[in-house]
Amino acid sequence: MSNQYELFSMVPILRAAEQSALGGKPAAIGAFNVNFYNQARGILEGLRRADAPGIIQASRGANQFQGGPDKIQVMILQAMEDSGHSLPVALHLDHGNEEQAPICVDEGFSSVMIDASVLDLEGNIALSRKICDYAHPKGVSVEGEIGKLAGVEEDVIHETTTYGDPFLVPYFFNESGADALAVAYGTSHGPNKGSQGGLENLAVWVIEKSYKGMVAYGQNENHFLVSHGSSTVPKEIVDEINKYGGNVRGAAGIPMHKIQEAVKVGIRKINIDTDLRLGITATFRKYFSDNPGVEDTSTNVLKPIKYELDSKLEAIDPRDYLKVIDASLLRTDPKGTALEEVMGLVQERIAAHVEKLVHDFGCAGLAGKVDRVSLSEQAKSYI
Ligand SMILES: [Zn+2]
Repeated sequence: MSNQYELFSMVPILRAAEQSALGGKPAAIGAFNVNFYNQARGILEGLRRADAPGIIQASRGANQFQGGPDKIQVMILQAMEDSGHSLPVALHLDHGNEEQAPICVDEGFSSVMIDASVLDLEGNIALSRKICDYAHPKGVSVEGEIGKLAGVEEDVIHETTTYGDPFLVPYFFNESGADALAVAYGTSHGPNKGSQGGLENLAVWVIEKSYKGMVAYGQNENHFLVSHGSSTVPKEIVDEINKYGGNVRGAAGIPMHKIQEAVKVGIRKINIDTDLRLGITATFRKYFSDNPGVEDTSTNVLKPIKYELDSKLEAIDPRDYLKVIDASLLRTDPKGTALEEVMGLVQERIAAHVEKLVHDFGCAGLAGKVDRVSLSEQAKSYI
């Protein structure tokens, strides 16, 4: 691995956003979920256009989909190399558990989340501390979570939100050693944020109080607040999916001005997954509609994908219809293959959306503000 394509801890990246905020320009870094190569390329391209640092994250499901975190890590570095991406990027495990987080540390992720929010506070702190003790000596950053978000994340389902207690935030950072913390404040996972009460229950004051406590304890330049379940779910993308044969109902996201309110009072990392899934699905559906019969040109790749789309009208997760083909096809540049054209469209779609989001998050132009500390240098900061 050449130095040019090294991955960074989230800490220096999120600190650049915090310093921007302290200088009067509130900012948060976009953290985008990835499942396949062109999705990664699209994210990187959007970041490049906005001159923004960024976080690429893979869930346990994404790791499983691609055959392991080692495969994802190689895929991301390959995407960076193929696009000559020199802006700072972290590769983060989203919603990790006790088993997966250490594996991802070993496999070259530069950041991991340990979601122990189902445990009681002391259990949560103890497990988060255990992961920090494993990750920090390698310079790998750790994100924890308190409270519970409504919606489905991996194998965990919560019907309603349980807010994180802002008064526990400085204590949690201190006791667990975590670098970042997702504090549930009423956002929710998935494409139906309105129906889960996400909007009516949005409590930005939870973030404001959490952040003020961190400032009071002098934690805010090394510890950061994270917003999960923050996709905006653009109506025009949902409409496009439905126009081209899909059936996605009741979709609603978090309005951008609400996200910006949260950034203003202390959010420094914003997770975006659903928006990209929707964009990918709209692109596939439109592609098959615009190119009737194209699936017959590649009966072992395009045809099974189209079949899945035709039979899963509610699908928004690209893994639902891409898992029918060999995952290795989705891990490298599809140039010269049946996927080249549609994946080119997917990549551009994602790039445009990511570029717009990072401008809205206030982190465009911050790439040069990130202190490029290597993981081994970062490791020393914990001693
Ligand atoms: Zn989440």
